[in-house]
Amino acid sequence: MNMLDELSVQNIFIQQIDDVCFKDLNIRLDILRLDKIHPVVSGNKWFKLKYYLQQAIEDNYTSIATFGGAFSNHILATAYACKKQNIPCTGFIRGEEPKHYSQTLSDAQALNTQLRFLSRAAYSNRQNIIHENASVFFIPEGGYGKPGAKGAAEILNLVTNLSNYNYIICAAGTATMLAGIANASMQHQQCIGISVMKNNFRLENEMLSLVNDKSKDRIKILHDYHFGGYAKHTQQLIDFMNKTWLKHSLPLDFVYTAKALYAVYNLLENNYFTSGSNIMFIHSGGLQGNRSLNKEALLY
Ligand SMILES: *Cc1c(COP(=O)(O)O)cnc(C)c1O
Repeated sequence: MNMLDELSVQNIFIQQIDDVCFKDLNIRLDILRLDKIHPVVSGNKWFKLKYYLQQAIEDNYTSIATFGGAFSNHILATAYACKKQNIPCTGFIRGEEPKHYSQTLSDAQALNTQLRFLSRAAYSNRQNIIHENASVFFIPEGGYGKPGAKGAAEILNLVTNLSNYNYIICAAGTATMLAGIANASMQHQQCIGISVMKNNFRLENEMLSLVNDKSKDRIKILHDYHFGGYAKHTQQLIDFMNKTWLKHSLPLDFVYTAKALYAVYNLLENNYFTSGSNIMFIHSGGLQGNRSLNKEALLY
């Protein structure tokens, strides 16, 4: 895999999931394979970054910085985008400098992103860093914010026959993607985000501040599918990922998309969806994060 491969929107496709549990209830599940956009910079991060980058360039900033953890898809996507645009980039990483860098950090460094490690305390006071570096264009952690939501709204442009779906479901970290998707969705559509954090109940308000009034009552966040918390997993989740791979050749990441797709199956079992429903599930990528698992864990 070459980090500087071009992003290829034309590789994105919609995969129908052929499973008896859906067929029996006359429910259709389709997956938007955003993970196909790039082997490393996969998924939604590219969409969320687009308008931040545009703003940085328009406002003549000569460097960009952002924040994230040691396995962050956002850090890597930002590193890639800045490399492509020839803009120097700094990644402020949560936690002390590790002896051995994660592959995510090594990749970001190979893309010329400068890594700076912050203690947990300094990380939570990251507003200070932003104030001290006024000449740097800062992208919020995870791309959270209105420009991020504006970019994420464009994800739905890739859905042919968008009006056929009555549910749109995706994973939610900062819920920026969910907000963007809700803003671009149609009046008959319910948008559901599966929170990947444990008891992160601030998320609703953070999301609502990015959502248009006309979409606010069609959007919902579910909190029961975190599998122990952010970037935590159980054997049950790994088994689900392997089963999904064997059955549908669909690779999932354990931080976001596996939890969200598991939720879809669980909701189905609990008769959450009315018969005749058409569900669009956004595969938001993030597969590079699986490199933090044991090599034997996954069959792919
Ligand atoms: C970052 C990320 C998300 C969450 O996006 P938010 O806009 O922060 O909710 C979902 N899926 C993947 C694969 C991600 O990398």
